[in-house]
Amino acid sequence: MAKSSKTKASRAKASGGKTAAPVLPRPTPDNSRLKSALRIGVVGCAGRMGQMLVRAATANERCLVVGGVERAGSSAIGRDVGALAGIDPLGVPVGADAGDLFDAADAVLEFTSPTATLHHAELAAKHRKVHIIGTTGLEAAQIATLQRHAKQTAIVLAPNMSLGVNLLLRMVTQVARSLDPDWDIEIVEMHHRAKVDAPSGTALALGKAAAEGRNVALDRVAARGRDGMTGARRRGDIGFAVLRGGDVVGEHTVMFTADGERVEITHKATSREIFARGAIRAALWAREQPPGFYSMADVLGLSS
Ligand code: NAD
Repeated sequence: MAKSSKTKASRAKASGGKTAAPVLPRPTPDNSRLKSALRIGVVGCAGRMGQMLVRAATANERCLVVGGVERAGSSAIGRDVGALAGIDPLGVPVGADAGDLFDAADAVLEFTSPTATLHHAELAAKHRKVHIIGTTGLEAAQIATLQRHAKQTAIVLAPNMSLGVNLLLRMVTQVARSLDPDWDIEIVEMHHRAKVDAPSGTALALGKAAAEGRNVALDRVAARGRDGMTGARRRGDIGFAVLRGGDVVGEHTVMFTADGERVEITHKATSREIFARGAIRAALWAREQPPGFYSMADVLGLSS
């Protein structure tokens, strides 16, 4: 800036003292904000959640979207990350190299598939970058691998990033603790027709929360699908029922049913924005944490 005004002054002198029309000061970008902003990368940025994450991170003044990647062969590669998400272009093309993304970002948000997520958690560990994982359908062995990577960096895994569902998880544990196994627990969930895993990660987390309240392992009591001559319901089982259709973002009801009465606790998500906002909150929180494997309850301060 100083250099350019000196040049203008010497030009004015050279033109016989005539000064050029005053140049109005142009607004300078808020560099302090850019310096302190959390640099966010989005894996799977063309997906339903990926696009929502790009929009939510761009709207958050504490974040700066520095890149997005997609699976090899995706038609989204090369397109602008912002334009793809339906907002103003960000000047960043969708890439195919997740290594570059983990290099450039402070925190990477990922809602993809279990296999992709495991590969990227390895990169997060290698680059020592925060990894926020919303992917569902991970097996126990895959979660154990994530826990191993979390020795190198902060990883947050949450099958549901919404505040409401995380409160519901707490409530379900408390109610299950208060009611004896004469109260049958059933979990009903509904999602859009494109969802590939069932029951949903959230339904399983609710089942785990109920099982914890009863001090049993979910694997021992889960009834994950009834068809044909199933016999009577076993006392103490936690049952799951799955519905799929239309564009339903996510609905979960936990029913506690006894002879003569029933308690139902329901959560309905009407916008994916709640998950994206939760993921960003997790990323801002995780950047202050030492390496470790964290849940949304940790992020929200709900861990007991
Ligand atoms: P989607 O199919 O619309 O998007 C997934 C995206 O990931 C796709 O664009 C796909 O091309 C991309 N992808 C796959 N493999 C990749 C790779 N190796 N590298 C880069 N990109 C890759 O699915 P969605 O509806 O956005 O859901 C994604 C996941 O998030 C699912 O597991 C879903 O259950 C979960 N989800 C979690 C929450 C939560 O709060 N935790 C909320 C909603 C959805």
